[in-house]
Amino acid sequence: MDSFTPSTSRHHSDASSPPEDSRAHQPPGRVSFLKNLDYSVVQQCMHCGLCLATCPTYTATKVERHSPRGRISLMRSIADDRLKVSRTFGEEMYFCLGCLACVTACPAGVNYAELFEHARAEVEASGVLANPSRNLIRYFAIRWLFMDHSRLQLLGAGLRLYQQLGFQTLVRWSGVLRLFPKRLQELESITPDIQPDFSDDLIAPVLPARGVRRFRVAMLTGCAQDLIFSNINLDTVEVLTRNGCDVITPPSQHCCGSLHAHNGEWDLAAKLARKQIDQFPPENFDAIITNAGGCGSHLKHYSKFLGNDPAYRDRARLWDQKVKDIHEWLVQIGIEPPTREKSNSGESPRVVTYHESCHLAHGQKITSQPRKILQMIPGLKIVDLPESSWCCGSAGVYNIVQPEMAGQLLDRKLSHIRSTGADTVATGNPGCLLQLVNGARQQGWSLRVVHPVTLLAEAYRR
Ligand code: SF4
Ligand code: SF4
Repeated sequence: MDSFTPSTSRHHSDASSPPEDSRAHQPPGRVSFLKNLDYSVVQQCMHCGLCLATCPTYTATKVERHSPRGRISLMRSIADDRLKVSRTFGEEMYFCLGCLACVTACPAGVNYAELFEHARAEVEASGVLANPSRNLIRYFAIRWLFMDHSRLQLLGAGLRLYQQLGFQTLVRWSGVLRLFPKRLQELESITPDIQPDFSDDLIAPVLPARGVRRFRVAMLTGCAQDLIFSNINLDTVEVLTRNGCDVITPPSQHCCGSLHAHNGEWDLAAKLARKQIDQFPPENFDAIITNAGGCGSHLKHYSKFLGNDPAYRDRARLWDQKVKDIHEWLVQIGIEPPTREKSNSGESPRVVTYHESCHLAHGQKITSQPRKILQMIPGLKIVDLPESSWCCGSAGVYNIVQPEMAGQLLDRKLSHIRSTGADTVATGNPGCLLQLVNGARQQGWSLRVVHPVTLLAEAYRR
């Protein structure tokens, strides 16, 4: 049985709980994720409001229920049986970005990440948002496409052909898209460019360290990352081998399950976690490397999903310890500083600013390491970005399901980047990279959007 299978009854008690007869009814037999959550997590918020100013949705709307405090209050009401899971509650949980800025701000240490995942799962288990088109899209994307990477690669190959043969340019140039609904036009405009080669074509399954071998690491190539940023995967592997790591990159990898966990599909998240552990036995590696901030935040918590599975419980704990974000790992092991080419020593430095992925900064507390790496690269002038850890609006699939709020956040982010005078912005998460690339393109701005590890790999190559 999976560790997370929720119970059908409360397992906590609380003096403030309302009397039994005032409690809303649950459909018989339906499991409740929020009622099953450890009550010390549910009741931790002390309503101080210190998180409000850091919450992008509250800042934009000034509506209490769009704030962390308001959302936690709703979640607690459901856990206490004072509120039914309703459509409004469901929509509120999907209006939340899951950016976890409130976690960083909270002096009481409220575990909003845990609350948020349980609340989304509660919404899905209740079916309050279900409708035929939503069900179909969710089935296709979450249950089918992202459960088997070969399907995603097939879709990517088709999209690549569409782009390489010039059909995408033709469609955009002809204006035919104006005949379609506005939503479809918006989605087409954010279709990512598919890489000419996927990671399996670029990276050998086993690559030895250059020079003295210090570590043996596994490299996770990701799902969307593999299609859209396989070049960053190649850069990552190059940087790792350059710094004494044997790198094992098995072909045909799986999605990490973060999409599933954040969208209330815990069964599927657990299934994918098992596949990852089978493919990358944690006992065989010094570290398991990810270069995607959003994935890393999920990958470090597999024991939450497999904690009650005797076959995987111990390995999941070891896995959680071995997963490292690439910036975290490089700073931990100490890297060879790149040297500046003598012929370029007179050139003026490139101005680079750094945008923090929410799940790298707030989810994994990795803030100094990417900056340290950037500071090591010769020929760059690093300038601070105002509100660097404020969400850019990408937030998984938030820019697809909540385009209005995502657009506001993107505009805010781009205006801050402009204010720095930088011609390059570095960020360590594929969702942020894609969001900023699309935003700059829509503004006709030739801003370079790049992963820090790419700048490091380029410096080594020079
Ligand atoms: S996760 Fe982000 S959007 Fe959601 S409540 Fe916290 S700060 Fe606000
Ligand atoms: S989540 Fe934390 S910061 Fe926000 S109101 Fe509750 S205790 Fe205060």
